[in-house]
Amino acid sequence: MGDYAFPPPPVVALATTSGKSFPVRRIFCVGQNYSEHAREMGGDPDADPPFFFTKPADAIASGAVIPYPPATFDFQHEVELVVAFGGGGRDIEPRRVDELIFGYAVGLDMTRRDIQAAARKKGRPWDMSKGFDFSAPCGAITPKAETGPLAKGAIECKVNGETRQRGDLSDMIWKVPEIVRFLSALVEIKPGDLIFTGTPAGVSPVFKGDDIEATIAGLRPLTIRIG
Ligand code: MN
Repeated sequence: MGDYAFPPPPVVALATTSGKSFPVRRIFCVGQNYSEHAREMGGDPDADPPFFFTKPADAIASGAVIPYPPATFDFQHEVELVVAFGGGGRDIEPRRVDELIFGYAVGLDMTRRDIQAAARKKGRPWDMSKGFDFSAPCGAITPKAETGPLAKGAIECKVNGETRQRGDLSDMIWKVPEIVRFLSALVEIKPGDLIFTGTPAGVSPVFKGDDIEATIAGLRPLTIRIG
């Protein structure tokens, strides 16, 4: 080991408001975690425990511009609270979750909705609708020491100044401690892991030149342009 065939890829990292970078390990995402959004996607908000999908760590986009992706005509925004882990474990009890959280950020689960719809119809995986290049824009992480546990507060997404999504973190079907309980029964959570915790209703398509402004009360806003 140590003699690589080519230089290993750089560590993917997010800025934090405390100055140090946060090295990203994995990205987990929760599907349909706000009732109205579950309904707009044709799901049943009361039916099931939370379900998860993933994005590769290097889907993180922290620049001001992301390219309009290939292979879609329906590229949509989903504003989400991102939970960043400084600790981890297996089978984590809800009351222990808070001590494992490093901080929180505003993220966008960018989605090729047409590819997702086709995959759903055929019972195929979501990877290419959710885990493509630049599909996980994420703002600076605010340490939990500054925010406290984030269980409520406005979450909003504007496109070209017009509000498209608006909700409250307290509207989540599965709250963060419960999400972590379910996820840590499936995989061992480790430092550097991120969870995108689902999006409120109002998802809609964006186009080249659009400006997206994603905000959550108490966190650094995330603004990106579709290039
Ligand atoms: Mn999502």
